[in-house]
Amino acid sequence: MVKVKTRFAPSPTGFLHIGGLRTALFAFLFARHNNGDFILRIEDTDQTRFVEGALEDIIESLKWIGISWNEGPDIGGPHGPYLQSERKTIYKDHAYDLVKSGHAYKCFCTQNRLGALREEQKKKGIYPVYDRHCRQLSQEEILRHEKKDDPFVIRLKIPEEGEIIFEDYIRGKIITANSTLDDIILLKSDGFPTYHLANVVDDHLMGITHVIRGEEWIPSTPRHIILYNAFGWKPPVFSHVPVILAQGGGKLSKRHGVTMVKQFRQKGFLNEAVLNFITLLGWSLDDKTELFSMKELIEHFDLDRVNKAPAVFSYEKLNWFNGVYIRNKKYNDLYDLLIPFLIQGGILKEEESARYQEYVLKIIPLIQERLKYLSDVSDLTWFFFDDHFCIKDRHALIQKKHTKKDAIRILENTVEKLQSVTHFQTGELENVLRDLIKDLGLKPGSVFMTIRVAITGTKVSPGLFETMCVLGKDRVIKRLKEAKEIVINIE
Ligand code: GLU
Repeated sequence: MVKVKTRFAPSPTGFLHIGGLRTALFAFLFARHNNGDFILRIEDTDQTRFVEGALEDIIESLKWIGISWNEGPDIGGPHGPYLQSERKTIYKDHAYDLVKSGHAYKCFCTQNRLGALREEQKKKGIYPVYDRHCRQLSQEEILRHEKKDDPFVIRLKIPEEGEIIFEDYIRGKIITANSTLDDIILLKSDGFPTYHLANVVDDHLMGITHVIRGEEWIPSTPRHIILYNAFGWKPPVFSHVPVILAQGGGKLSKRHGVTMVKQFRQKGFLNEAVLNFITLLGWSLDDKTELFSMKELIEHFDLDRVNKAPAVFSYEKLNWFNGVYIRNKKYNDLYDLLIPFLIQGGILKEEESARYQEYVLKIIPLIQERLKYLSDVSDLTWFFFDDHFCIKDRHALIQKKHTKKDAIRILENTVEKLQSVTHFQTGELENVLRDLIKDLGLKPGSVFMTIRVAITGTKVSPGLFETMCVLGKDRVIKRLKEAKEIVINIE
């Protein structure tokens, strides 16, 4: 039995998006499920499309979700280098080997000739293909071009007849007539390989047993198989995973919402939630189990249960997963995750975060249920921090049907009652405030609202007694007194 080996082979033409991540994940899970290896290879031969920072982003995003590789550009390995731009001579040598063995040929056609050919074909209403002009060149003609140093590309000789049949692991048999295929370019005139050549040569040299990639590559596969045959190599098993559609149809794109892994991370999605959600885009275990950890995915994932039909990306579903994972977090773990967001939100300064550890750990149980994204933390907690606390709407201190005097009475009496509280705990606070309501003879909801606005600055906050406990007696009394002054000054 040959050890399974898969790869993820992105081109650094942009930041990693959710579709690429899903492809990487399927390849990774399949390898790990079969005790195999998974490698990362960067297909950067098209230097014109290279995007600064994309490589770093790909690596960071894969690591964030929990994918690791046995060989790759950052860690090396026995089949390196893993950046195709550093493997130019390998591809060149292979292209020349094919010319020598008669499976490929040099094409000296100029851009002018190719342009004119395309125009002519367009006019005739035929799909533009290379007319194989140079495939028939005589030895003398080739020599003549070579003597003049005419630029050339190397093209693959596609068999004129017959068909290519391959068994896609997910989709079954796919048949392509050779007559529909073009003599593709393998090596460009600048000596750089095309995707087809570099991809096939590397998959072979790196020992890839299973190619798992997006379905947009299906048309390339028959060409790749012809290349494998030309080299005399055994092709790997091909599996093409379905596209990801947006709800309501159409390929998922940025007009539907965030699509880059980095953006999900910045918004405060948990990696476990994204991992779980993404794997279920096109795969399922039994149509009912929804929650999977990485360990469980490795245990269960197989390509047999990958759908042929497109997967539909639902932001609501992803939000649901995020909520579930946030609610399942231990306070300490959530603390580690939230601190960067509190710093980024300007609530805490990096250097003071350690000092606030105990305090933030007390706040977390109060907001855990209400966090949809980690980035919500600032909006839910700012009033716990004196530097940020303020009462935005002063009038919210006076409830409907209350007079200014009522509000002042509430605030004054609350201060008085709280001052005598020795155990500033929810149970005792509740008793004391219930007594207060009796004394005041006002509706509890309205009394509590005035207190809430006074100590949190807002009408919506976590439970009043719990919030008071976290804020502490001194701070609560100080805020109530300040609120009273504010009410007195309201015209
Ligand atoms: N470099 C290709 C891409 O960017 C790889 C396709 C494949 O996996 O063969 O998706």
